[in-house]
Amino acid sequence: MSRVYNFSAGPAVLPEEVLREAQAEMLEYKNSGMSVMEMSHRSKDFEDILDEAEKDLRALMNIPENYKVLFLQGGGCTQFAMVPMNLMRNKVADYIVTGQWSKKAAEEAKIFGTVNTIASSADKNFSYVPDLSDLNITDNADYVYICQNETVHGTTIRTLPNTKGKTLVADVSSMFLSEPVDVSKYGIIWGGVQKNVGPAGVTIVIIRDDLIYDEVLPFTPTMLKYKTHAANKSLYNTPPCYNIYICGLVFKWLLKLGGTEAMRKINEAKAKILYDYLDNSKLFHGTVEKKDRSFMNVPFVTGNKDLDAEFVNAATKAGLKNIKGHRSVGGMRASLYNAMPVEGVNALVNFMADFEAGKSC
Ligand SMILES: *Cc1c(COP(=O)(O)O)cnc(C)c1O
Repeated sequence: MSRVYNFSAGPAVLPEEVLREAQAEMLEYKNSGMSVMEMSHRSKDFEDILDEAEKDLRALMNIPENYKVLFLQGGGCTQFAMVPMNLMRNKVADYIVTGQWSKKAAEEAKIFGTVNTIASSADKNFSYVPDLSDLNITDNADYVYICQNETVHGTTIRTLPNTKGKTLVADVSSMFLSEPVDVSKYGIIWGGVQKNVGPAGVTIVIIRDDLIYDEVLPFTPTMLKYKTHAANKSLYNTPPCYNIYICGLVFKWLLKLGGTEAMRKINEAKAKILYDYLDNSKLFHGTVEKKDRSFMNVPFVTGNKDLDAEFVNAATKAGLKNIKGHRSVGGMRASLYNAMPVEGVNALVNFMADFEAGKSC
């Protein structure tokens, strides 16, 4: 067996320790006589798995009592519709567009009502985060929407927008559990787990109780109402049981490492290794304004497409996988999620330095 360093943006690297644990329990979970994959979602064993996962997530994120935790399906893209269908009571929402994922969310919301783009960094190919301290918030906006970490463009919103009292909704898919957050600042904070938490198939939605409405937009299917899932503890229908189980193992792994405060230190240190190298390199450079750089997704380029392609090929051969940038941006992108060990970042930077040295002689 030889595991590579996988820099994929998602689905992405998972902690090896967690995979080994899952492997050990694959045929028989505890004393149940069966795999978690084979269990009824109504069984005691699975209910315990679900309860424990929620309990550990609440501990990791310090989630206040008046928030529900929902384990849903349909990926991040389903939330782009579910958010407006459930919250757009005035049929107006304000969107802050800082990259591909907030742009997609805003486009989808237009199906359901008026979408005002109150800030955007499209003018510079989403390479920065605009000042969000004094925006033109729409009087009757139902919520203000952000994607806090733009996975493709590699920016992070470090200072939350001043929403002037409006509900803040945030997609944190690609920075979920990478650092502490104050959940009470958000109305909804949600993420697809396949970036930083678990295997594709689960979307975790953390929603404040008062936003779980009975009255949502007409024609909203039962499955797309937050109420349905909140009232049934994420067991209205069959949830993605095995994937939730893996998320639960990842939560335990994070707790053991010291939680999100410890992860922030580790993640900052890992990102610093790569950014410091990029800042001093004559061949490679980062594409994002320094103050807005993501610790999770690091895009970089040489400025020459052929050279980028040559680098990606050479890196792949050296066991540094999935380093190619998103098709909409080009160049390279290294995703440094929680489960990427510091050894992987060092291996990447050493490889880049060798490649650069080879080009300069
Ligand atoms: C990947 C991603 C999505 C889309 O997730 P899917 O599960 O593929 O629908 C949405 N938002 C962000 C920030 C992402 O990184």
